Amino acid sequence: MSFEFLGLSEGVLGAVADAGYVDPTPIQAAAIPGVLMGRDILGIAQTGTGKTASFTLPMIDILASGRAKARMPRSLILEPTRELAAQVSENFETYGKNHKLTMALLIGGVSFADQDARLERGADVLIATPGRLLDHFERGKLLLSGVEILVVDEADRMLDMGFIPDVERICSLMPQKHQTLFFSATMPPPIKRLTDKFLNEPKVVEVARPATAAETVEQARVTVAVRDKRAALRSLLESENVKNAIIFCNRKKDVDVIHVSLKRHGFEAVALHGDMDQHERMKVLAAFKDGEAKLLVASDVAARGLDIAAVSHVFNFDVPTHAEDYVHRIGRTGRAGRAGRALTIGTPGDAKYIAAIEKLTGQRIEQIPVSGVKSAAASTKDGRKDRKTPAKEKSGAAEGPSRKPKSRGRGESDRGKKTREKTKDKGAREKTRVVGLGDHTPGFLSRPVTRQSKPQGKSGKTAGDKSE
Ligand code: AMP
Repeated sequence: MSFEFLGLSEGVLGAVADAGYVDPTPIQAAAIPGVLMGRDILGIAQTGTGKTASFTLPMIDILASGRAKARMPRSLILEPTRELAAQVSENFETYGKNHKLTMALLIGGVSFADQDARLERGADVLIATPGRLLDHFERGKLLLSGVEILVVDEADRMLDMGFIPDVERICSLMPQKHQTLFFSATMPPPIKRLTDKFLNEPKVVEVARPATAAETVEQARVTVAVRDKRAALRSLLESENVKNAIIFCNRKKDVDVIHVSLKRHGFEAVALHGDMDQHERMKVLAAFKDGEAKLLVASDVAARGLDIAAVSHVFNFDVPTHAEDYVHRIGRTGRAGRAGRALTIGTPGDAKYIAAIEKLTGQRIEQIPVSGVKSAAASTKDGRKDRKTPAKEKSGAAEGPSRKPKSRGRGESDRGKKTREKTKDKGAREKTRVVGLGDHTPGFLSRPVTRQSKPQGKSGKTAGDKSE
């Protein structure tokens, strides 16, 4: 099926072709005609399926006729995080380049005054996080009675982040006649209740079973002792064909620790977590998207839904304790049918979490040799004893802790070793630096990466904003 048969206008089709898309993804093929007919949609799909374009493309055509009045947006898109909201606005810019739609972004971390001015000018498309939207509404700066289309995106993430009461309130503020497009990767009971209450005979489009790990992602894991995790990460970064990668940590404070550690070892890394202000976050994302930094160290919430088109690898520096987070994390690679690799660094104590993930995804995560431990041993030539690779590891079935380095109790985190290793690691990396994806260079890699659009105003952090 090609895009031409979905009922989209020439202007939108032109923008889609310029974006380099040839065929619609399954959710686009199934949802777009329904949206254009004015139907409510319940899309059960995870990120990476092309779901954003499944609502932005037809919305552009629906909103093409008509004009927005001051403070009365014609459509409203709710997103759980500022980054997702910013990404959706980029999508509207990309696909709406042949149309003249006005857009406003209401997210935390940017000034109310700038946002207010945008609302005053009128918005065909209003993209917002629920908390900030209600703040404006309660200040009397916004009327929702003109909303023709409401989009609730990543509803299960809204649930995780405690936004469902806000979403429910916003749904109840909608005018009687409007269209709702609702997307969620999973349908837990509170989400089901919401869709039963607010959707009107929706067309249900389910493109992948909830919590199914994307099929295009190759998964593997290593098991090392806690103290060897950083060495394992560095070694994997070197041995894998990494073009760019997101490295997930379970805790915010570890994001900083790993970020600093990687930089100290000569890797081009940036970090993203919820304590950063909006300007910093946008800068970090732009550096990563533009390829200035190949590695992005992130927490789950900060990285949720990030749309970075060509991530070759996802590393789980920690095994996620919630199996569903694993699915979301690995969904950052292998997006929209592209190949990707997800590598998880586990410790012997993580066995129960690995088992839960394998149960949820129905897929076994192959255990690969702990080359990280071996590489760490290779860098201790200065008279200290090498760490030996346990026999099990050599056979590729590494289970259990690797041996503690004999000379120093703190292994890789030891300061004295760092400077030496930095030089060494850098040299090794220069030799093995990976510049592509081997013989195969997918077409999307040669497409220019869209720059992160600037937030509306960079001042005005809001302490009360809940979204990360
Ligand atoms: P989403 O699921 O909306 O987060 O989209 C995931 C990725 O797929 C984004 O990087 C899109 O640019 C890309 N994408 C969306 N639609 C298509 C398509 N029809 N063909 C190829 N890539 C697409």
